[in-house]
Amino acid sequence: GGGGAGSTTEPTSGSTDSASASAPAGGEAGGAVGVSMPTQTSERWIADGEAVKSQLEEAGFTVDLQFANDDIPTQSQQIDQMITQGVKVLIIAAIDGTALAPQLENAAAQGIKIISYDRLIRDSENVDFYVSFDNFKVGVAQGQSLIDGLKERGEGPFNIELFAGSLDDNNAHFFFKGAMSVIQPEIDNGTMTVVSGQTDIEQAATLRWQQETAQKRMEDLLTANYQDKKIDGVLSAYDGLSRGIITALQNNGYSGTVDDGFPVVTGQDAEIASVKLIQDGVQYSTIFKDTRLLAEQAVIAAQALLAGEEPEANNTTDYDNGVKVVPSYLLDVVTVTQDNITEALVDTGYWTQEQIDAGV
Ligand code: BGC
Repeated sequence: GGGGAGSTTEPTSGSTDSASASAPAGGEAGGAVGVSMPTQTSERWIADGEAVKSQLEEAGFTVDLQFANDDIPTQSQQIDQMITQGVKVLIIAAIDGTALAPQLENAAAQGIKIISYDRLIRDSENVDFYVSFDNFKVGVAQGQSLIDGLKERGEGPFNIELFAGSLDDNNAHFFFKGAMSVIQPEIDNGTMTVVSGQTDIEQAATLRWQQETAQKRMEDLLTANYQDKKIDGVLSAYDGLSRGIITALQNNGYSGTVDDGFPVVTGQDAEIASVKLIQDGVQYSTIFKDTRLLAEQAVIAAQALLAGEEPEANNTTDYDNGVKVVPSYLLDVVTVTQDNITEALVDTGYWTQEQIDAGV
């Protein structure tokens, strides 16, 4: 437990669910903060929302936490409402990084501070700070683990396919660039072949990061390109995609574990169902991002901004949102394979061993 993702894995349904949908504005010492999360379909965002909310409340703020069902108008409306309520700070993980400019302009005009959470908000000067993980490094870690998993099998050559995230999410581009920075040399030297030829992010992308979309694309790729070939590995940008990819592979006759030759599939977020698949030897790896630490950075940034200070950045070069370079605080990530599940996820209190065994 420990306040990690493990305690917040039960999504409730509906677009305006919130633990405090009608939080009073400015009722307590710290004032009100609006927290806008993209969706409850992926458990990391539930964990993020809960962690930001509880840490803000501990710091004396009141919190309006909303999830937007991956629907852009819903997110815009929820933010409009937060502004009307009189929040002092907005903490936003955007669905579409370019869709919120009018909301932010309105907020900034009223002196509301804006923190871009995990995903960079683009095309707006009204972003005061960005807290995230080092997204390029996430991609490098994904690409490297695909390479490592394959090289455990020998020298190759290996047949691979590539799955990226949603193009409207700035992170998807960083993940893909990071991954290709290590995979492209392997393609160039003949160790790896993308049999479909789909090597551009536009071809590899998965709208809204949807599992079913990835499953469908994997099935189509297998039908079109692998009738007389075996696929050895799949770069997958997120655990939900990975599970869709694994289902498609299993439906096409691939079985057993990575040790038996099941394709090496990467991931991201250490979602519980995927951690179980890793423990069982079916998914090769995931990238663990400790959402509790990200929440902590968001709270620290909110406090600094409200005190009229600049939050402390550790990166002031990489995140140009199209209008300005947004000062950023970036956290590190951990690659998780079968070998370090306990150390990375159980010992840190993110999941319990019982949760991993159950996979829920
Ligand atoms: C996040 C990832 C997540 C993905 C899908 C990205 O913006 O950085 O952690 O896997 O969205 O939810």
